[in-house]
Amino acid sequence: MSEPSELLTSVLTCMDHRLDPLPILGLEPREAHVVRNAGGYLTDDAIRSLCLSQQLAGTRRVVVLHHTDCRASEKTAEDYRAMVETGTGVSPNWDVVPVGNPLQRARIAMEQLKASPLVDTTRLEGYIYDVNDGSLTPVE
Ligand SMILES: [Zn+2]
Repeated sequence: MSEPSELLTSVLTCMDHRLDPLPILGLEPREAHVVRNAGGYLTDDAIRSLCLSQQLAGTRRVVVLHHTDCRASEKTAEDYRAMVETGTGVSPNWDVVPVGNPLQRARIAMEQLKASPLVDTTRLEGYIYDVNDGSLTPVE
């Protein structure tokens, strides 16, 4: 019988189907709360989820996991708005500013997290996952 898993980590990442965050980060099932959205942006709801992960379940390690070739980050906000308007007939009122460079995207999310009084960032880590070669690069 294996050791019981311990929930210590929360992860903010993109919804991209090429990312399987737990094995990428060397974690077992049940070892992390995973907060996902298009682009892995630190939205208000992502902050709410990371905050409740810490307050309800006691997670302390926070990982920002971004990736190369992010289709939710390659266009401008205006391009996404126009695409959605064409596809749905509705112009969305989203406040996410897409950032194409994954390293820059991760650094922005990490700085925003550090500025939030709702999330303890004492154990904050960031990584870039390369969807082409499977490599994982820490964010300095
Ligand atoms: Zn993505």
